[in-house]
Amino acid sequence: MAHVIEPAASGRSKCRGCGEPIAKGELRLGERLPNPFADGEMTFWYHLICAAYKRPETLLEAVAQTGASLDNRETLEREAQRGIDHRRLPRINGVHRAPSARARCRSCREPITKDTWRIPLVFFEEDQFNASGFVHASCCLEYFETTDVIDRLKHYSSDLSADDLAQLRQELAIAR
Ligand SMILES: [Zn+2]
Ligand SMILES: [Zn+2]
Repeated sequence: MAHVIEPAASGRSKCRGCGEPIAKGELRLGERLPNPFADGEMTFWYHLICAAYKRPETLLEAVAQTGASLDNRETLEREAQRGIDHRRLPRINGVHRAPSARARCRSCREPITKDTWRIPLVFFEEDQFNASGFVHASCCLEYFETTDVIDRLKHYSSDLSADDLAQLRQELAIAR
């Protein structure tokens, strides 16, 4: 079966992209994947914007086929296309200050010192998102080939203050 875009029938489905519930009536994307344990398919649900950020090919396929009218169609298609053009962008899973100095940056391979801004990464493998290390926020350009990532960082780290965002913009600017 093809992927589907439809209003959530209840508020019980959770988005695979962010882990948050999808509100009843909100348009959601159902990604159909072969069931590895049985015949047939599984459906994974996403907020549309989470699908655009993290499953760009699926989102574009579903948007091309859907009869539903999407208010933010342009944004969804643009963000999904960016995730295809810059193939590492869908790995972004927010941003935070390193709580310890144990991790190394996947881009520059240097240790990420405590309290430095870092971007956690997830890889979609075997039907799930797996946590797969970090990059310095200041290595953003090197790793993602773009510093236009603030919306993604905010989306997956909704607790960022205005100060945090100002600092982050500086970190990203270092990379330019
Ligand atoms: Zn989501
Ligand atoms: Zn780095």
